Amino acid sequence: MGILEDIKASVAKSGQSRDGIFGVKGGDKKRVRFLNDISDGQKIVFHDKWEARNAPCGKMFGDKCALHNAEGYRTRDQYAWTIWNYEEKKIQIFLFNAGRVSPVPALVQMHETYGTLRDRDYVISRTGTALDTVYTVVPMDKKKFKLDKKALKKKKLFEMIQNAFDSASDPIEDDEDEDDDSDEWGEDEDIEEDDYDDEDDDEEDDD
Ligand SMILES: [Zn+2]
Repeated sequence: MGILEDIKASVAKSGQSRDGIFGVKGGDKKRVRFLNDISDGQKIVFHDKWEARNAPCGKMFGDKCALHNAEGYRTRDQYAWTIWNYEEKKIQIFLFNAGRVSPVPALVQMHETYGTLRDRDYVISRTGTALDTVYTVVPMDKKKFKLDKKALKKKKLFEMIQNAFDSASDPIEDDEDEDDDSDEWGEDEDIEEDDYDDEDDDEEDDD
């Protein structure tokens, strides 16, 4: 339903952080751990327009997209990874484009240096505003991640993005049989055990 209305509402509250999506305010910094590696990120198509909040393309979620050919809107890719946010003590989605005002280019360099993003924490800080925003990415010492937190499955990741940006729209129709009774994991309120990606973790040894 009315994605345009939704975007207008979003403009009105712009500056607020979005549920489940990583954000850092100007002058602030956050320590994070990437739970999937750079190549395991998901591409998310967004539409944006000057002075309007951006919104993910409805077609990403099987819906029609009101903004697909809307006047004045551009289409740009963003990329999404799962992170653990130490300050907020929760799983979040690290969602950015790969442009100039983004921590992603620096993270790509870190990945080239270390061969992975997952062997250490990163401190992401932000200075400036709007087009003068600068993200700085500082790698911490190599250290095994001790918490039992895993990357989100694609389906859950998409669902969280949809909810964060277009809360007025209906949830995704779900044909698959899923048990909704699985235990939740502590502080990650809306994330269930089933929502985590199990397919990795080759490095389980403790040292
Ligand atoms: Zn679209």
